[in-house]
Amino acid sequence: MAMTAVRAVAVGGPASLSRFRGALVAAVVGDCVGGEFEGAEEVPMENVLQHLNSLDDETKGNSILDYSDDTAMARCVVQSLLTRTGFDEQDMARRFAKEYSASPGRGYGSGVIQVLKKLSSPQLSDVYQPARDQFNGRGSFGNGGAMRVAPFALAFPDIANVKRFARLGAMLTHSCSLGYNGAVLQALAVHLSLQGALDLPQEFISKLINEMEEVEGDKAALNDARILKEAEKPFCERLRKVRYLMNQSKVSIEEVISELGNGIAALHSVPTAIFCVLHCLQPREYLPESYGGLERTIAYSLALGGDTDTIACMAGAIAGAHYGIEAIPQSWIKCCEGAQDADMTAERLYMLYHQSSKGGRGETGEQSCKDKSEEASKASNCTEKKNGAE
Ligand SMILES: [Mg+2]
Repeated sequence: MAMTAVRAVAVGGPASLSRFRGALVAAVVGDCVGGEFEGAEEVPMENVLQHLNSLDDETKGNSILDYSDDTAMARCVVQSLLTRTGFDEQDMARRFAKEYSASPGRGYGSGVIQVLKKLSSPQLSDVYQPARDQFNGRGSFGNGGAMRVAPFALAFPDIANVKRFARLGAMLTHSCSLGYNGAVLQALAVHLSLQGALDLPQEFISKLINEMEEVEGDKAALNDARILKEAEKPFCERLRKVRYLMNQSKVSIEEVISELGNGIAALHSVPTAIFCVLHCLQPREYLPESYGGLERTIAYSLALGGDTDTIACMAGAIAGAHYGIEAIPQSWIKCCEGAQDADMTAERLYMLYHQSSKGGRGETGEQSCKDKSEEASKASNCTEKKNGAE
């Protein structure tokens, strides 16, 4: 097979194999190393560096850090996209439910557990219904759709498909637009990074804002934002804050947390993850000089505290798509459960993506994506104040 030759020529260029491997593996690494500080209000950088240094200690053996729900669900997304060569909501929903029942102790939130239990019912005909019923019909706006979305950006070369399927994939558990649009934003960030767009950071953030202007111009999104008393286009507003902060020579961690958030709502974590990547494109005085950009991104994400595993997982996916697999320390990969697996499946996504860009079946996903799922978005609502996060 020509894979070796492909690997040799593809490293570094847009949509190269190295970028696919980097994205998928760094997401797992972010999830695994981030678990240590999940929920912590304050995380001194010293503690982060100590934790990361401990991964070099060979006496501890391999796979000492377990992955959480972020990776467990992303693995389901990958397997479904590969097996179905495109998006199939029934198959993906079944995989989420099966994975949860096989390994329930991965840190799932209580709200999503109810959805996953309903998804396992053989009588269920509309797989979007359990998510729609959540929180008295308001739906969840948590970051659970965004944390697992990177594989969509690695399966579909066309940006319209990335947006469409990222949204539908998220809606299996998150029916509020502030949940699924967070997934769309994260998928867009991985998609652009994979193309090399982070070489021009100002253009990168402008492109994200332009895309989200359209995404959030949707009626359901405008309605949800109004009901939740957010800005008219909440993710666009946050991305403008990201742009402001990335242009400051000095930004404190406190300022990042107060402006962007570090919580479990998609709105309080996806723009934060994007900021982590942008901020760490350059060396920072409080991070070791020996660190490359990917190591800086992961370390910085952990130092923000809050939902550290998910923020580091999302930042890891974006950074990994930019820096490639070579930027991830081998010692980190060895310590993280599922990282080597992710590396192997990344090659298969790479093949699917390039097959799709030549007009293969994965491009459209039409065979499996029912219009019924489009209705799901119209019907989604979150009609009261924010208690729908999960
Ligand atoms: Mg988690």
